[in-house]
Amino acid sequence: AKEEGKGRYVLYDKSMHEAFNERMNIEKHLRGAMTGHEFELYYQPQLDIRSGFISGFEALIRWNSPELGFVSPLSFIKVAEDSRLIIDIGEWVLREACQFMKDIHDRLGHPYKISVNISVIQLLQDDFTMMVLDSLQESGLEPGFLELEITESIFMESFESIVSKLEFLKSRGIRIALDDFGTGYSSLSYLQQLPISTLKMDKTFIDSLSVKAYSQSFVQTIVQLGHNMGLEVVAEGVEEASQLEFLKDTGCDKVQGYLISRPVPEREVLQLLETLQDY
Ligand code: C2E
Ligand code: CA
Ligand code: CA
Ligand code: CA
Repeated sequence: AKEEGKGRYVLYDKSMHEAFNERMNIEKHLRGAMTGHEFELYYQPQLDIRSGFISGFEALIRWNSPELGFVSPLSFIKVAEDSRLIIDIGEWVLREACQFMKDIHDRLGHPYKISVNISVIQLLQDDFTMMVLDSLQESGLEPGFLELEITESIFMESFESIVSKLEFLKSRGIRIALDDFGTGYSSLSYLQQLPISTLKMDKTFIDSLSVKAYSQSFVQTIVQLGHNMGLEVVAEGVEEASQLEFLKDTGCDKVQGYLISRPVPEREVLQLLETLQDY
């Protein structure tokens, strides 16, 4: 067992080295991915629990690299942030998502909301707010149907400047969601200062529902906290009917997860809406 311990260090070094090489390799191919049209957006529906209707979608980026194959956002978003490529990629995501949702509105005559993930690197850009307003204007999508998903990592950056940008966008009718809520750095006092409209409760809380005895009261508390602050509460990563049942009882507003649907490509969205009409 001791030898194994010694061996593990070697392995550890090697895997650090490999991880570094992998990141370099991803960055190399990421540089040409925008011009190569290698990105695509997938859309995952959100179900309004009370009405039983789909109320909107989250846009999730997919990268099919000719050299690397399908690369998960979990492996390339961080690289895109560190290399600042996320600025262009994120702008493309926003414009594409707004355009698509506007098309859906026009075709179906029914407004669905679109949620777009925004990296803190994008929020730090001087022209971020103008870029968002321009995406709306260009697409013709009404601001109330756009929701920007930010994470608690903004607490580590120029918090005040970010908050004022978010306040400006909120004043224009755009919604702000706090993503992965409960996993990051936010204290409740920070939470109060954020101009958010939605709390997205992280999947880890939903996962623990069936395993940990106290987790039910945890989830109930988060839902209550959100409602007391006048926020909408969305549960992420809902995979089981029993979880949905529990969330319904707690008064949680919306659910997103494989139970309702996996994220689907653009061309499958209309069909998905037909299938899910009477969930
Ligand atoms: P996220 O924003 O928390 O997105 C939710 C992730 O959970 C997505 O993974 C989604 O496919 C997955 N998911 C949804 N329902 C379920 C479920 O029931 N079970 C399980 N196991 N997973 C579920 P995905 O698409 O791989 O994205 C991973 C992360 O990458 C996202 O986490 C987000 O942080 C980031 N990301 C994705 N697209 C973008 C983007 O356009 N811009 C930025 N900045 N980040 C993005
Ligand atoms: Ca998200
Ligand atoms: Ca999330
Ligand atoms: Ca996440």
